[in-house]
Amino acid sequence: MIVFDEVTKVFGNGTKALDNVSFAIGAGELVILEGDSGAGKTTLVRTMLKEFPITRGKIIIDGDDIAKISTRNLPLLRRKIGVVFQDFKILYDRTVSENIELALDILGLSDKIAAERSKELLALTGLTDKAQDFPVQLSGGQLQRVIIARALAGSPKILFADEPTGNLDAKTGWSIVELLKDINEQGTTVIMATHDVELIKDLKARTIFIEKGKITKDTGARAHDKGKKE
Ligand code: ADP
Repeated sequence: MIVFDEVTKVFGNGTKALDNVSFAIGAGELVILEGDSGAGKTTLVRTMLKEFPITRGKIIIDGDDIAKISTRNLPLLRRKIGVVFQDFKILYDRTVSENIELALDILGLSDKIAAERSKELLALTGLTDKAQDFPVQLSGGQLQRVIIARALAGSPKILFADEPTGNLDAKTGWSIVELLKDINEQGTTVIMATHDVELIKDLKARTIFIEKGKITKDTGARAHDKGKKE
């Protein structure tokens, strides 16, 4: 589903944010991307979304070399990858269901289909009872669920969650991890970026360690040639 082949990204100011990064993630995998702040995790997802060109190497998403995707087809690539960032803008003057429906509107679905999908997303993220609440009435964990529901609006094949447990207490954080596991079990490839070492221990998932832009360890690395076909 995702192949990084010797990817290097040097920003205009000379910062090498990704340094010869190679890995392959198969469809339906759950992977933790572990690295301290500044390690290159956000740059990695931004390169997947083709927000900027890479300096060297190749990235394949769902069989396509993203360097060859035209600007016109970029929305199709981006729809394949749902992203959850901590500061993702929630609209505070809209209810939970309206926040989710807005993400669906952008996809151009009919009102009827959007309403059905919104119900599904509320149920999946455990927010059905909160549908008519406003964001200020929600806990941190519930707000995170709204962000996850919105990221799933377009039924992406890949979900990338950046520090999804960041501001949450351990128990709430774990409930978000369980939600991401459920989403993964329903077929979505899930990548969770974190520097929470305890979480990684308990989750026992394949973990890719990144440090100063370099992959230092991959607990689930597979044969290179097999990865290339994915
Ligand atoms: P993480 O998400 O793991 O905290 P980032 O990918 O945000 O790490 O950053 C990796 C490195 O790249 C850092 O040194 C950061 O300062 C640098 N960096 C990120 N974005 C830019 C940019 N647009 N221009 C220059 N340097 C950047």
